[in-house]
Amino acid sequence: MEATTEDINKLYKLITEAKHLVALTGAGVSTLSGIRDFRGKNGLYNELDAEKIFDIYYFEKDPSLFYTQGGSFIYNIDEKEPSIVHNVLGKLEQRGYLKSLITQNIDLLHQKGGCKKVIEIHGSPSTHYCFHCAGINVSYEEVAEVVRKGEMPKCPKCGRVLKPAITFFGESLPAEALKQATIESQQADVMLILGTSLTVFPAASMPEHTLRNSGKLVIVNNMSTPLDYQAFMHFEDLGQVFEGLNQLLN
Ligand code: ZN
Repeated sequence: MEATTEDINKLYKLITEAKHLVALTGAGVSTLSGIRDFRGKNGLYNELDAEKIFDIYYFEKDPSLFYTQGGSFIYNIDEKEPSIVHNVLGKLEQRGYLKSLITQNIDLLHQKGGCKKVIEIHGSPSTHYCFHCAGINVSYEEVAEVVRKGEMPKCPKCGRVLKPAITFFGESLPAEALKQATIESQQADVMLILGTSLTVFPAASMPEHTLRNSGKLVIVNNMSTPLDYQAFMHFEDLGQVFEGLNQLLN
């Protein structure tokens, strides 16, 4: 279902008149930048052993799988450019419309697209820590340099391999980010739900907070979600909708 000019105008009005606009994004936003979805039709799950790559017990035993296989897409993402969706969301934040952005993505592309208020509920590779030494905090850039040479990042104190602050299977989600995401979802009078099928919790529960406080949901996703029937507006093509919004913003 293609969004008409009238639809886009209506959405633009909703966005620019919202009191507390919040966005919730998933993998669909990044596939436009050439980042592959883990679970989608051409997802990495089918090709790589993602269950193992992102498994904390496996990582503790042997982190090399993560840094060799996972590394090829996590640490080459600065070659990827933000998509029209990342860029428009960045503009919306800079112009004061977007109050915060909750993402399930771990690719740092929202930051690259100009968003500063990013809540990363599945963690982030922006920092790396040591299981054994408190206070170790190594940046994405430093680690990426090491990984691209085919090596693993080591703790400057004890020499053990560092772990990215991405949430792995078997780990609990970052509590502070979840708390913030919940508060933002409760405050939202409009939530944009972009490129996520709302099947993974707790992301899937965020729109429920918005609905409970009489906020409106706008869903843009190429697959159906369990909340489609509750959406105020619903579109399928992220690229088309955001090209339209971009024209109105210029
Ligand atoms: Zn250490």
